[in-house]
Amino acid sequence: MGNMASGFDSLRSPLRFLGEVLGDVSRQEWLRSYEEWWQHDGQGISDAVDRGGTPWVRMFDRLGERVDEILYPPEYWRMLQHGYGSGVLWRAFEQESLLPAYLGIYVTSFYDPGLSCPYTVSLGTIAPLLKYGDRELQARFLPRLLERQGAAWQGATWMTEIKGGSDLGANVETVARPSGNDWRLTGDKYFASNAGAELAVVAARPEGAPQNVRGLALYLVPRRREDGQLNYFIRRLKDKIATRSVPTGEIELRDSQAWLLGTVEQGIYLILEVLNLSRVANSMGSVALAQRAMADALSFAERRVAFGKPIFEQPLLRQQFEDRLLQLRAASRLAWEAVELLNQVWREKPPYSERYHLFRLVAHLAKYWTAEFAVQTAKWAMEVHGGLGTVQEYSAERWLREAMILAIWEGTSHRQILDGLEVMERKGAHRLLLQHLGGSTPPPALRDMESRVEKQLALPADQKQASAESLFSDLAAFTADALLVRTSQPA
Ligand SMILES: Cc1cc2nc3c(=O)[nH]c(=O)nc-3n(C[C@H](O)[C@H](O)[C@H](O)COP(=O)(O)OP(=O)(O)OC[C@H]3O[C@@H](n4cnc5c(N)ncnc54)[C@H](O)[C@@H]3O)c2cc1C
Repeated sequence: MGNMASGFDSLRSPLRFLGEVLGDVSRQEWLRSYEEWWQHDGQGISDAVDRGGTPWVRMFDRLGERVDEILYPPEYWRMLQHGYGSGVLWRAFEQESLLPAYLGIYVTSFYDPGLSCPYTVSLGTIAPLLKYGDRELQARFLPRLLERQGAAWQGATWMTEIKGGSDLGANVETVARPSGNDWRLTGDKYFASNAGAELAVVAARPEGAPQNVRGLALYLVPRRREDGQLNYFIRRLKDKIATRSVPTGEIELRDSQAWLLGTVEQGIYLILEVLNLSRVANSMGSVALAQRAMADALSFAERRVAFGKPIFEQPLLRQQFEDRLLQLRAASRLAWEAVELLNQVWREKPPYSERYHLFRLVAHLAKYWTAEFAVQTAKWAMEVHGGLGTVQEYSAERWLREAMILAIWEGTSHRQILDGLEVMERKGAHRLLLQHLGGSTPPPALRDMESRVEKQLALPADQKQASAESLFSDLAAFTADALLVRTSQPA
């Protein structure tokens, strides 16, 4: 069996695969130890958490005090804190580069896509605190969030309410009222991941602000008030099909103490900046999940025999592995481009540069394309397992459950297409993108793509949206392929 899958071996390790596509950037000692920990310890814990299902919330302690404690097994907390301790987050701020965080998120997602969420939303809390928080707030919270030894505090990003997450401008009903030097928030968040976090960034509408996206602002909300009492409550946890390594709950804000980040007028920009961070993480996580699903399909296909040989050697299946590996490489280039551009622009404040608009388009393309690719790859990997793919003894069914969530949270695929159209229309981001790809793509292909996009943008509004997906999908594939070609060209 030895050489049967040569050329595919790197699928079995997130760092070997990244090393092939990205080169030296992923060759870091701490990442190697982190991956080894997952192989030896983390995987088993993650499987048990997924099987264990939704944890419980213990609302009251033995003395009748309200505590809203989430009851995971102790091993869960060890797994979670191992990532913080290894430096999935603190290294980024020590090195003043987001790249280590996104590499850490890739490795995490290969083993447990749901566990990437706590790291991502903590990043989504630290970044706006660093950019917009005053010295006092930073001194109070940052050292705890960037703790290296002992348990790090966690962040969370809560926007969505019961009426829906896509149209935040219309649907956020949480009200913010000024109170001395800070604010008080009252309302309910309906899909709140990392429930129980020590600090959350929360979208709310200052009293009297307009009932649209311009009326939203972003606030910091700690879990406890200064007197030690709970500052928000967990009503219940969602019983989800996957991402069970992050508790997602319904949160009650009741006169909760909060601090405004930035200004009320800039609120929607801050909210979108937080979403940008997590959309890019979702893109890395989606590629990692697709890699994992392929790796498991490969191990199965090498062993399962049909018609006299391992199914991996059957020409049709072999070809599918080859084609998908190429797509996986292209997807990983697209996701990484979003990471690198984000790293260049994340400190910008409005009004943004052209580079920022280029980043936004690449982030929408990457979120859309990689999540759809993850779903398709997880489905295909289940089929490779045949009927066994549908039973829990194999992990194929888990990757499909996990992938379905990657395509929905952080803004659905529809949202990415529509926001992508908007940034092309308003900021000419497609022209910036095509310029960016010049050098690795023949000029006629760039011109063709530009004229396709221009034609789409010139359509009447309804038609423009209705027919946008095939263009958006082609633009994503075009971008991913061009980036892959650039990687394989000699410098
Ligand atoms: C496991 C999980 C964890 C989550 N954690 C968080 C969290 O921590 N914080 C947070 O803020 N949110 C969180 N969410 C919520 C998530 O961001 C939303 O589910 C997502 O943004 C979509 O919103 P919705 O579910 O309310 O769907 P809706 O907004 O009700 O949309 C329903 C459908 O209509 C489509 N749609 C809406 N408008 C249009 C349009 N103009 N054109 C075409 N189609 C459209 C949507 O794409 C979707 O398919 C989480 C969700 C999940 C599943």
